[in-house]
Amino acid sequence: MSTPAEKMVVEQLVPHGVTDERVLKVMSEIPREEFVLPKLRRHAYEDRALAIDCGQTISQPLVVALMTQAVAPKPDDIALEVGAGSGYQAAVLGRLCRKVITVEREPALAEHAAATLQRLGFTNVEVAVGDGSLGWPAEGPYDVILVAAAARGVPPALVDQLAEGGRMVIPVAVSSDEPQDLRLYQKHGGEVTFRSLFPVLFVPLRTG
Ligand code: SAH
Repeated sequence: MSTPAEKMVVEQLVPHGVTDERVLKVMSEIPREEFVLPKLRRHAYEDRALAIDCGQTISQPLVVALMTQAVAPKPDDIALEVGAGSGYQAAVLGRLCRKVITVEREPALAEHAAATLQRLGFTNVEVAVGDGSLGWPAEGPYDVILVAAAARGVPPALVDQLAEGGRMVIPVAVSSDEPQDLRLYQKHGGEVTFRSLFPVLFVPLRTG
């Protein structure tokens, strides 16, 4: 008998390009139902984003998996997430990296995500309240940066806080009526290059 999380991995992730065994393993183990609203628990493993508090969403499992795979997290990495939301994406990174800082601008969401992560034993994930477009300089530079809200342009602070050899995924809004362009930025020899991955739909990154 497979669990709902294992079924999600086999039916939604494997057929759609998720090949990283570590990503597949952690997503088959993390209880996604603990990160959704109680009334939506029975929908926790469906192939879609779900509403959370403050008008925000927990991302579709496939998008979480593909973004995580794109930043190729390593066990010694330190990661920054912008937009903690429910804390689910941070939990996935937490299982794959040494340490995760996730910044959330809505204090109520941050508090709830921190409580969930603590209850489930994610001791290497720290939730901070603030404007994540400024990054979190105190703990940087970061090997991995994952931005879970759509930016108008790439915030310069995030590029600055990317470590040498670091990888950043970020949805970039090209125009208001089109899907966003999910981009992978990499820093090598101080030079930053990017390539487009696929179109996505995220809530906006709200600065200030
Ligand atoms: N990663 C989340 C989903 C993120 S939804 C999960 O796994 O559940 C996007 C989140 O980004 C929302 O919670 C929103 O409040 C937050 N956000 C938007 N602008 C932000 C900013 N400038 N700094 C930090 N968080 C921001």
